[in-house]
Amino acid sequence: MGRVFVAGSINMDVVATADRHPRVGETVAGKQVLYFPGGKGANQAVAAARLGAATTLIGRLGKDSFGAELRTFLGDQGIELSYVQETTDAHTGTAIITVADADNTIVVIPGSNALLSADDVGVVPLVKGDVAVSQFEIPLPAIAAFFQRARAASATTLLNPAPAQSISGELLALVDILVLNETELGFLANVELSESDETARIIDVARQLQAREDQAICVTLGRRGVLALAGREQIVVQGRAVKAVDTTGAGDCFVGALAAQLAEGAALRAALAFANAAASISVQRMGAGPSMPTAAEVAAVLK
Ligand code: ADP
Repeated sequence: MGRVFVAGSINMDVVATADRHPRVGETVAGKQVLYFPGGKGANQAVAAARLGAATTLIGRLGKDSFGAELRTFLGDQGIELSYVQETTDAHTGTAIITVADADNTIVVIPGSNALLSADDVGVVPLVKGDVAVSQFEIPLPAIAAFFQRARAASATTLLNPAPAQSISGELLALVDILVLNETELGFLANVELSESDETARIIDVARQLQAREDQAICVTLGRRGVLALAGREQIVVQGRAVKAVDTTGAGDCFVGALAAQLAEGAALRAALAFANAAASISVQRMGAGPSMPTAAEVAAVLK
């Protein structure tokens, strides 16, 4: 069985709740302040670890109280953290979120995440059968170096290009499995996509983006499930009918679960069905980290 290596962001999400959002220049009294471990890298590592995958996270924390809390939380999830270094040059990545009127505003300060370098990822001991996972909340040169190392070791590379930003042809060609939602697909392919788009159209757009003949492009479609173009083959996994209460972290759960399955040696089609089931459980619970299911919970759904 392979390991899951995630090179990615680690943030503290600081959530303030209030009856209404302040106007510019105004101060309002809030109701509560909540602290949640977050960052796409950390969330995806938590999802994989909770599903039983041997998981290593590669990232940067600040030498501060948020950094210490996050290290404790991630260690408690069974995640291997020896490639998470601490820096005094920046604070731990932090998201400041205000929630009022069922709407939120978010300011993310990358902080220490922005200092993750190609050197940090260049030493990771990847081997054949491992899965190397990354997202766009760390510098692109670090992702490229990580994937180059993974490919040299015959490990599988999985990129979740979120939040969407332009990607070079060189980096895209290093990716074995691209996992993205419709918005991100539309952005990268430079086309407008909407909820009403048919399977054929989404597959067409995915095909335009495909950088190598053997590359898999997996498009998550929210409650509609997932659609994949794997080489020339198309895979359709229908969404599971559930009552969603909070879709925060659904994509991260999906990516972590997919990586965990691929590291176990599952074929792509089975791994996608598993990840779809895992993510459908996560949307029925509040929060990102705490909503990630266990392998037994996913198995019960797939029975
Ligand atoms: P993101 O959170 O990145 O925008 P999606 O909204 O596409 O990603 O969700 C990722 C996956 O989570 C979907 O492919 C699906 O498996 C699952 N999912 C999301 N929303 C729902 C829902 N309302 N019902 C069932 N499954 C869902």
